[in-house]
Parts: sequence; C-alpha cells; structure tokens
Amino acid sequence: MTSTDPTPSRVLVLNSGSSSVKYQLLDMAGPTRLAAGLVERIGEETSRLVHTPLTGGDKRETHGPIADHGAALKAVSEELAKDGLGLDSPELAAIGHRVVHGGLKFSAPTVITEEVMAEIERLVPVAPLHNPANITGIRTAQALRPDLPQVAVFDTAFHTTMPEHAARYAIDVETADAHRIRRYGFHGTSHAYVSRETARLLGKDPSEVNVIVLHLGNGASASAVRGGVCVDTSMGLTPLEGLVMGTRSGDIDPAVTFHLERVAGMSTDEIDVLLNKKSGLVGLCGDNDMREIRRRMEAGDQRAVLAFDIYIHRLKKYIGAYYAVLGKVDAVAFTAGVGENAAPVREAAVLGLEELGLAVDGELNAVRSDAPRLISPEYARVAVAVVPTDEELEIATQTYALVRSGDGAEGRGV
Ligand code: ADP
Repeated sequence: MTSTDPTPSRVLVLNSGSSSVKYQLLDMAGPTRLAAGLVERIGEETSRLVHTPLTGGDKRETHGPIADHGAALKAVSEELAKDGLGLDSPELAAIGHRVVHGGLKFSAPTVITEEVMAEIERLVPVAPLHNPANITGIRTAQALRPDLPQVAVFDTAFHTTMPEHAARYAIDVETADAHRIRRYGFHGTSHAYVSRETARLLGKDPSEVNVIVLHLGNGASASAVRGGVCVDTSMGLTPLEGLVMGTRSGDIDPAVTFHLERVAGMSTDEIDVLLNKKSGLVGLCGDNDMREIRRRMEAGDQRAVLAFDIYIHRLKKYIGAYYAVLGKVDAVAFTAGVGENAAPVREAAVLGLEELGLAVDGELNAVRSDAPRLISPEYARVAVAVVPTDEELEIATQTYALVRSGDGAEGRGV
C-alpha cells in the first residue's frame, strides 16, 4: 500500500487500566508510529496526560482532574487533533484494545460485538483487576467512534495452544472445570511477537525454531515456544504464578496461604495483597527496580544480593524446565524492562549452563541498543538474544490484519 492509497490505515491501540489509559496511534501503511501517551490517575484531582508526538514536536504534559475514561479519551483526542491526528479522522481504520483475559474462547484477535463483550464480562471472576478496566476502555472507545471496528487482542490468546498436560493443575477435575481453574498464561502478545522476532533474527521461519522467551518486566513470565506455537508458560490462572516479579511472589507452596490464614490470622484479601503487591523483589529487599537493586548490591547491601540471587535462581529453574519441555532449544530471548536493559541479569541467568549450550559473551551483552541482537558467543549451540518487545505494534498489526481481511469490516468497506 502507498501513502496515496485512500484506504484508512491508522490504528489506535488502547491499553486501559483501572485508573490509567496508555495509547499509541500507528499508521500501518508503514508501519509508522504517529503518537504515544498515557493518562494516569483518572478520577483523581491530580490526573496527568503525557502526550508524545512521534513525527516531530515536543512531548506535552497536562495536569488537572480527568473524571473518567470517557473524559480521558476525549482529552487524548484533543491532544492528537493538535498534531492533525484527531480520532474523528476518516484515516482511522480501527481501535485495537489490549484485553487481559480471554479465557479459552479467544485464541485470536476478535472484532468486538455484544456477545464478545458478554464473554469478556463472564471472565471478570478470573481477572477481577484487569477485565473490568478493559471493558470500560472498550465502551468508551465505542461511544467515541461507534462506526469503527473495535478489536480485542487478548493477553491469553497465544497460550491457548498449550497442551492439556501443561495447562491443567493436578487438582480434582470436576472442581477445576466447574470454576474454570486452569493455567491460562499472560503477556501472550509479547511472547508471540518476541518469539517471531527471534526467529527473524536467526534468519529462520518461526515454524523452524524452538525458543524460550523470558519476558522480564515488573510482571515477568517465561514461555516455551515450539515452532511458533506456545507449549508452556509460567503464569497460570492469574499472573501470580511463575517467576519472581517486581511485587509478586511467583511460585509458592499453596499451603503458605492456609498457614497465613490459620496461623497469622490474615484474611483472603490481605493474603492477596501480600502475594501480589508486597512480595517478589519489593518484599525481599524493599525495591522492585532492578537498577536500584544493582546499585545497592554494588554498595554491599546483602538484602539486595539475596533478592537478586532468588530472582536468578527461579529464572534458571524455568530455563532448565523449558529446555526439558522443548527437548531442543534454538534460542533463549530476553525481553521487557529488565530483560532488555539489565545485562547482569542476563549474564547470571545463563551462568553455569554451558553444558546446555548456553553462554553469554561479555562484550556483546554490555552493548546498549534498541535493536534485536545476539549476545551469545559464536561457539554457543543455543543463541542467546535480546529482543525488545513491542506489544503496541503487535496489537496494531493483529487489529489491522483482522479488519483488512474483511472479518471485522462489516459496513465499512475496508
Ligand atoms: P511493566 O510493563 O511490567 O510495568 P517494564 O517492562 O516496563 O514493566 O519493566 C520495568 C522494569 O524494568 C523496572 O521496574 C526495572 O526493574 C527494569 N528496568 C528498566 N530499565 C532498566 C535498566 N536500565 N536497567 C535495569 N533494569 C531496568
């Protein structure tokens, strides 16, 4: 497609949280990123909108109360209009929404209908923090542009290919099925994008390679991807399972929760807050930012050292586990805030795994870059890579492909 093609080619990507909205506007004819931003503290007096035009011009910040998601999206549209990119433009082809939980029904991006909304709503009990915010975001965008296709891209979708033996917990099957208890996995958009980009970096088709993806942000998850298909991932029914994260414990003996209730007298809600918000790196050492933890380690702080060691130990266990799940591994890819930036984490995670064919080259690992790159030495049998994730681009790509295919284009002629 050329820039003179009259077909609308812009996609707005919305990631709606309970009190925030992150957005990006992309032109898929490039693709080119046109603008990005964030509205936070929605519903408070101190709301803030940070808008970055990406085709020229300076970042703009506005402060002052933004009452709800509707007002937030209106403010975003006004900011975009200042750059000639208003959301009323006929060039906007669709709005793509990040939806955290799609359960088992949604294994692909889906044009949002009332039935789809009802299903996202039905999943609220398994994603009480996320799906309600996503629903609000969708309703708001529908009100703004009722004529446009709105597409849901689910965080769980990439993991719906997990075989039953990886997805099921070893608990009573009837109880599990009655309450839809199983491992769904999250960060799927990132795992899909990064595993594909890793194959590209190796000069191969995704179907030809097995990749372990380590998405290490504030939330963190690992996945085992065989030939482009996810066969296991570390997050489960909720994003609490798996790796040690910024504020979440990751894997824990479930009996710890009984103990906290019976012996420490904590309520279910208190335990929920403890494990989701006050555990992980922050629980272990008081900091969840890896930069700060490294700084403290260098100053000889033993709590920071222990937190780092626990983080790395868990990461190593998952690399080993997924190596065994895949049998043959072509690449291990690090991504997200920690994975892309923290060279010491990458080095420590593969240290001692030479027998598995894994090694990191010190010089390559120290390079700072936004580009996907290999950091393993020539001789290593398994490639170790840093592959920056781009969930917004992936959501926009999936959204645009769907509306262009015609499936999601009813009444619009796109
Ligand atoms: P999320 O999307 O889950 O909020 P990100 O993927 O943005 O998280 O990752 C945020 C984390 O990345 C921070 O908490 C910090 O630990 C880590 N991080 C960011 N930049 C650096 C850096 N330069 N060095 C080490 N860690 C970093």
